[in-house]
This record gives sequence, structure tokens and C-alpha cells, in this order.
Amino acid sequence: MHNQKDEDSVNKAQGRPQAAEESQVVDKVRVESEVGQNKVEAFVLIGDRELAAVKDRVQELLATPATPEQIDVVNHQLGRYPRGMVAVGARCVCGNPLAVVTRPQLEDGTPFPTTCYLTSPEAVKAVSRLEANGLMTDWNAELGSDPDLASAYRRAHELYLAFRSALAHQLGDDEGHIAGISAGGMPKRVKCLHALTAQSLVMGPGVNPLGDRALGLVHQIFDSQVCRCARPWTEAYREENR
Ligand SMILES: [Zn+2]
Repeated sequence: MHNQKDEDSVNKAQGRPQAAEESQVVDKVRVESEVGQNKVEAFVLIGDRELAAVKDRVQELLATPATPEQIDVVNHQLGRYPRGMVAVGARCVCGNPLAVVTRPQLEDGTPFPTTCYLTSPEAVKAVSRLEANGLMTDWNAELGSDPDLASAYRRAHELYLAFRSALAHQLGDDEGHIAGISAGGMPKRVKCLHALTAQSLVMGPGVNPLGDRALGLVHQIFDSQVCRCARPWTEAYREENR
């Protein structure tokens, strides 16, 4: 398993800003039974057309792999090197990465379940503020009492797994160790809004109801269509290449 603690303590020791990663906790509880060796699970809430759309999205992302400049900027955003970053999954109108796509298995073989990762410091801050306001408690209660929301949220979980599965297939990565594990607490709990908003940004609206909702709530301070970057792309890029 990816050792989050070690990486964080290294960051602390070197006085680097804390990575957004620490709050993007992964739900390690296996909620789905595995079907066979590498077959992740049977999707019950997504149809063939949706699966095809997810595969198209993955192809589209992999067609423009992360450039060294983008990796440098994300390195600066997170305060650590973005291991396994294969593509920028969403960009600000200025061009800055907002969320990145990480391969299911890092270069050294470490399984990495958090495929969609929020990197924009402005977005991370806005979403952290929502979490600090205790929103997740309300949303967890809502998931328990609203079957439609619960179903839409489980569908988001399946779409997340389908996305990663398509990515693993394209890259030849093994997903065996992270089978059935998505992110952010899905499919039953809300544990990390950063992970949910990252999915919404990477996969688009209509995929994750709570990620979409979080983005709606913060739109006056963070909006992918309005650049409020402290370091817009051209400036960030220039500074990284000085
Ligand atoms: Zn921007």
C-alpha cells in the first residue's frame, strides 16, 4: 500500500507545505466482493453506453499525457512530486492543472486507488472550508435517508471504478490490490470532499452528485471557468523554469 504517513512526515521534515493528499483519504474497506482474479466487479448501475463514455474519456486523457511543465507545476501545487501522474484531468481556464489523473499502479508497483486527485491550491482550500464547516456529517445523514441520493452516489463509485479499470487496461497496470476501492468514502460514506470534487472535475458534471454539489457551493471562491489562481499558468510555468 502507498505509504501516506511516511511521505507526509518527509514533507513535514523538509518544511514543505502539506500535500493535499493527506486529506484525500482512501476508503480502504472493501465493499464489493471480487469476481475472479482481475475482474473488478459487475456494475449494476451503469450501462454499456456509460461505460463506453468512460473509456472514451480515458482515451482522450491519455492522448495528451502530462508534460514536464505540468508535472513541475503540480509538484509546486502539492509540495511534493506527483508520482504516477499520467495526465492533467481538469484545467483552469488559464491552463493550470486543477486535478490530475494518477495511474492505478505507481512506477515501483505500489497500488494507488486515488485516481482523480485535486491539486489546485485554491480548490483544495475552498473544499477544505466546506469540510471544516461540518458538511460531511449532514451529507452522510442524507445518504442514509435519501435512497435516490444513495443510488446516485453508488453509481459515482461504479463510474470511478470503471474509469480506473479503463486506465489500468490502457496502461497495463494491475488493480488486484485495490479492487472495489474507490475514493472519498464511496460508495456508502462521505469522507473526503476533495476526492469527490476531483472526480467531478475530471469526469464532468452528472457523475458524482456530491462532488457536483460541493463545486456548486464553492463556486464564488473556486470555479474552473473563472481563473482565480494565485499563480496563473503562464506565471507558474515561468517560475518553475527559472
Ligand atoms: Zn487559473
